[in-house]
Amino acid sequence: MTDLFKALKIEKNEEGQNLNIVEISEDDLMEGNVVVDVTHSTLNYKDGLAMTGSSPIVRSFPMIPGIDFSGVVRSSEDSKFSEGDRVVLNGYGLSESHYGGYSERARVNSQHLLKLPKNISNHQAMQIGTAGYTAMLCVLGLEDFGIKPENGEILVTGASGGVGSVAISLLSSLGYSVIASTGRLSEAEYLESLGASSIIDRNELSEPSKPLGKERWSGAIDSVGSQTLSNVLAQTKYGGAVSACGLAQGMDLPSTVLPFILRGVSLVGIDSVMAPMSKRERAWDRLSKDLDMEKLAQMVVETNLDEIQNFAQLILDGQVRGRVVVNIS
Ligand code: NDP
Repeated sequence: MTDLFKALKIEKNEEGQNLNIVEISEDDLMEGNVVVDVTHSTLNYKDGLAMTGSSPIVRSFPMIPGIDFSGVVRSSEDSKFSEGDRVVLNGYGLSESHYGGYSERARVNSQHLLKLPKNISNHQAMQIGTAGYTAMLCVLGLEDFGIKPENGEILVTGASGGVGSVAISLLSSLGYSVIASTGRLSEAEYLESLGASSIIDRNELSEPSKPLGKERWSGAIDSVGSQTLSNVLAQTKYGGAVSACGLAQGMDLPSTVLPFILRGVSLVGIDSVMAPMSKRERAWDRLSKDLDMEKLAQMVVETNLDEIQNFAQLILDGQVRGRVVVNIS
């Protein structure tokens, strides 16, 4: 009898795209040399875009969405992985050109898989998810530019979102003083509980203003882009750095070169999808040491394969707080 398992599938026709839970077998999976029993996935901003079709994330249909997953190796043709290994995969084209994590089973390329650190469970790995791993890459970006806690405060934009929440928690554990910029001032208590020392209204940063402003922060982690990133750069202190990873406000950057040429500010580009394995290993190792798992648990909402589509529009509308874990099996 064929061994069937559940997956969420996006299909597209002339009327648009639709999402259905289907039963498939390993024969239906894409190419790869490792088969993984997926235990958990997550909802990231990009998953919202893929499931609603509001941005061309999916490059070929049908597609199983889910840009990341954690799981247990079921079989491997690569001697680096054995049955029972606990693994995580972020990006590398999942949900774009390769079937993603919203499936009870996945077949993937072993070069894209990373063994989880011993002290991070599969569930915690997806509490972190791509948003949290990206937050760690952003922190590493600042550290590599020599930004230290004694240099001054660090601004985090999109603070209540997934990247923002994990970034606040990480920075605060590392001894930085964190300013959280949010459009949800009602979440002040939540942001403070993660470690924010002060909170500003995101409207302060979202409108056009002068190319250079008062120097306010020594560094920033920005998941918002557009006019916000321009204002963040204009108010970064001399010699500071800004890790830019997102576009929640927009993909434009209406800035000038003045922060770069008059204040020596650095703009650090952060990409999680094609980040080389050495960078991923460094990020996951640091997450295992520096992330407060109790604070992480505080950020999380749980759901499952049957319910995940209900969250797709909510995350695009900025209505999801922190992280959403999708319990797969
Ligand atoms: P979330 O939706 O969880 O968080 C985004 C947050 O941005 C929202 O919670 C909200 O925070 C704020 N926001 C939303 N809309 C606006 C707006 N119009 N203007 C200003 N702020 C806004 O998403 P994630 O944290 O998962 O991802 C954040 C961004 O980072 C996304 O653009 C995503 O595509 C990108 N990303 C990039 C990666 C990479 O590899 N470069 C990897 C992962 C994510 P608040 O309510 O507190 O203001």
